[in-house]
Parts: sequence; C-alpha cells; structure tokens
Amino acid sequence: MKIVTRAEWGATPWAGTPNAVPLSARTEFFIHYDGGTPVSRTGFAIMRAIEAEHRANGWSGVGYNFVVDQAGTIYEGRGWDLQGAHCPDHNITGIGVQIAIGGSQEPSAKALAAARTLYEEACRKTGRTLQKKGHKDGFATACPGPTLYAWVHAGMPAGDYKPAPTPAPGGSIGTGSAARYQTTINGLLYGYGARGAHITRVGEALMKRGFGKHYTSGPGPTWTDVDTMNYHDYQLSIGLTGTAADGVPGPESLKKLLGSLPSAAKPTPPFPGAFYFGPGKNNAHIALLGVQLVARGFGKHYTSGPGPKWSEADCKNLRDFQLSRPELRGDADGLPGPKTWRLLFS
Ligand SMILES: [Zn+2]
Repeated sequence: MKIVTRAEWGATPWAGTPNAVPLSARTEFFIHYDGGTPVSRTGFAIMRAIEAEHRANGWSGVGYNFVVDQAGTIYEGRGWDLQGAHCPDHNITGIGVQIAIGGSQEPSAKALAAARTLYEEACRKTGRTLQKKGHKDGFATACPGPTLYAWVHAGMPAGDYKPAPTPAPGGSIGTGSAARYQTTINGLLYGYGARGAHITRVGEALMKRGFGKHYTSGPGPTWTDVDTMNYHDYQLSIGLTGTAADGVPGPESLKKLLGSLPSAAKPTPPFPGAFYFGPGKNNAHIALLGVQLVARGFGKHYTSGPGPKWSEADCKNLRDFQLSRPELRGDADGLPGPKTWRLLFS
C-alpha cells in the first residue's frame, strides 16, 4: 500500500506540534467527505487546499490522518502516530480518513478500495478490529453524506459497491447514539447546513455568553460544525447532558439563549387599494383582511366568516382595531387605508 507522504505532496511544517498517539489508543476508524461543494481539484492540490482550510481554522495543518482521492491515491495527513482534528472527542481514539468528494459526488470504486485497504492496514497495525464509523456517528454533522455513510455501515466493501438504502443517521457529540443534526423550531431550521440571519443571531448570542471559542472568524449565516461545538458547550453549561447536549438547539435551550424564540417572518402583503373594500365589494382581499383581524383578536363581530363579501362585521372589527391604535384613532372609519393595512399585518 503506497501512501504519499507529507514531504511528497509538499506540506508546510506543522504550526505547533500535534500530540503523539500510540497505536494502542486507536479503537475507531472514521470516514469523512469534503462537504457540500464538488471537489474539482486533483492530486497534491487536494491536500494543499485542505491544509489551507484547516490552518485557517487555527489547526496545525491537515486534521485528517489520511485523505483518499478519486484516483485511489492515499495521502498522509496526521498519519498513524499523531492526534487528528476531525471529530471532537474522537481525535485520539479515532483514525480519521477523508474521501475527497463533495456532497453531490459519488465515490469511485478506486477510492472505496483504497479506503478499505487503509482500514485493513489500520487493524493490522493496531492489532484489533477497529469500529467502522462515519463522522456523524460521533458528531452532529451531515458528513460523510448519505452514500459514504451507507457504505461504512454496509461494512466498507471494497468490490463493486452499490449504495444501499441510507441507514438512520447516528451522531451526537460524544455519545454516538442520537439521530439528528438539524431541527426546525418555529418554522426556522437550525443545525448543520442551515442558513439565515437567525443563525448569525444564535452565533452572536453564543459569543456574548462566552461560548465562541471554536469560532476563528466570528459567527456567520451558515451553520457549520463550529456552531455545533459552541452550542454543545453552551448546552453543557445549562446542565444538559448526553443526547440533549448534541450541539443542536432544542426549543428550551434556544429560548434561554435568545430570550425568546424567533419565528419565520411572514411578509406583509401589499395594500391592494381602498377600491376593494366597502359595501357591495366581494373579493379575496376582504377575506384576507378578515382572517388577519381574527388572528389579531379583533373578530368578535363576526357571526359567520370572515369571507370575501364585505359585511358590517368587517367594518366593526376593523374599527375596533383602529381604535386600539393611537396612530389610527383619528381615522377610525372601519375602512382600511395603507397605514391601517400595514399596522394590521406587521
Ligand atoms: Zn467529517
């Protein structure tokens, strides 16, 4: 089995020295992938790109013990004897191997065969059968993607491999048993891969509380493993343990962190014009107005509906709403204008 050494692919010297780990401490073999975007680089350039990325994380260099490319070439990262930086809580016990593909790419037969050979060599060197794991068996992440994850749990076959149905994901920090890496709270998605201003807000709140140590460049709008690690630290601090501290928000921990739970913002519908409202009118804007009045607690005059046909009840309910708002009181005629409409829907 040929391994391209760090010297051969042109690694820069370690920034700081990773700790040595004896082979006797190794019990697990972790498979990773590169992540969301397809890997278009080939050869040594793959290693140099990973090195640049991992050094930007503040790590000594490539965090994986080995990397396998689509041609089946094996590259040295931390190698057999150094502690990795690939899966929190498993960097000593676990040998981490990245198969250099993005989320939409299928691993080649050569890559899988090389990873299998590496696994057998790892078992031979350690003198034991190492547990076969995907990154998400040890951490709340999407890595190594559905195809590689299924391959790992099919026993890492080296021959002609056809992806089997994906097994349920494992993965929570330090427990290897829970089954989630994302969650939806109040219509908003959190966890690995989630995006939006609400993600930045969580990161900023974590930093403010002193749980930002894994960030190297501050929180951003995309949830990454670093957010998961910081959230995990925060969960431990409020007394959560085991799968409850998997680095993925739950409603209670999130509410405690932010003070209140954000919800998905509904856009304000534009005001259609006064023409559509009043006696004799019949259209969808009237129904929309009625539904919103009820939602805001101003529906007491409806005996049926609300519906698309303008009624005296629409007028009375809207007047109640207008009277409830000082800025509308001077114009509480029970008919909507742009200002009434905006306040009712915001
Ligand atoms: Zn991974």
